[in-house]
Amino acid sequence: MKSILITGCNRGLGLGMIKTLVGLEHSHQPAHIFATCRNKAKAQELVALEDQHPNLHVFEIDITDFSKHQEVLVDGISTVVKSSGLNVLVNNAGISAKFTRIGMLKAEQMTEHFLVNVTAPLMLTKALLPLLKAASDANSEAPLGSSRASIVNVSSILGSIEDNKQGGFYPYRVSKAALNAATRSLSFDLKEDKILATAMHPGWVKTDMGGANAPLDIVPATAGIIKFIQGLSETHNGQFFEYTGKTIRW
Ligand code: NDP
Repeated sequence: MKSILITGCNRGLGLGMIKTLVGLEHSHQPAHIFATCRNKAKAQELVALEDQHPNLHVFEIDITDFSKHQEVLVDGISTVVKSSGLNVLVNNAGISAKFTRIGMLKAEQMTEHFLVNVTAPLMLTKALLPLLKAASDANSEAPLGSSRASIVNVSSILGSIEDNKQGGFYPYRVSKAALNAATRSLSFDLKEDKILATAMHPGWVKTDMGGANAPLDIVPATAGIIKFIQGLSETHNGQFFEYTGKTIRW
């Protein structure tokens, strides 16, 4: 892949993915790595990486601010990639309320989770379609995957209906299940354009969201996630996977 955009990169898995990418051998690094954060002043680690790596470009945006998608991201990325387009979009930014039983549920939690975890990645995908199509067309000899054009929606095992044996987590579970449904539709709608769409569970990882009890550390987890992205192919289109490559039932 020549270019990749990852949202939510000031901390957690997003920052880990960026560190993995810029840590790859130079010949294996994407020519252009685009990262978003909401506030550069509070994203010191990411900004320090941007200073060290000329192929890393950081954009400041709240992904729920749809009016800025074009001006900040689409125009910003276009200026760099020109007619080559964008190979990979990773919709990583997300939120999760703590364990929520039905008796504790607040309507605002449902609305906010839907906005950040579903509406924002979908509207961002819509805004970036011309750039994804441009990359797909520019690499028409390449098979379906990350060297052509791909959308990776960072989902969660908690979004699997089949796997839900515990209940609760309404805002998070429902929003990730909806993101999964959207991923499946994208895989059909973008098939002719040869743009792949997949849903990926990144594992339970020690981040602010995953918490200290999570079994996985950020470094090995994000190394696995990047490997998963690099290995995307036809079989991943419209499916739900763990970052290890194991299929997850919807
Ligand atoms: P963190 O809570 O550590 O980080 C979340 C990131 O999303 C931050 O960069 C945050 O920015 C950003 N973000 C949240 N809301 C917005 C917004 N409106 N606009 C822009 N950025 C926003 O989470 P993780 O790194 O752990 O999670 C990353 C993804 O992985 C999420 O989609 C999550 O659901 C998924 N996931 C994580 C698991 C885990 O165990 N960690 C397990 C399964 C799935 P800011 O700092 O500004 O808030």
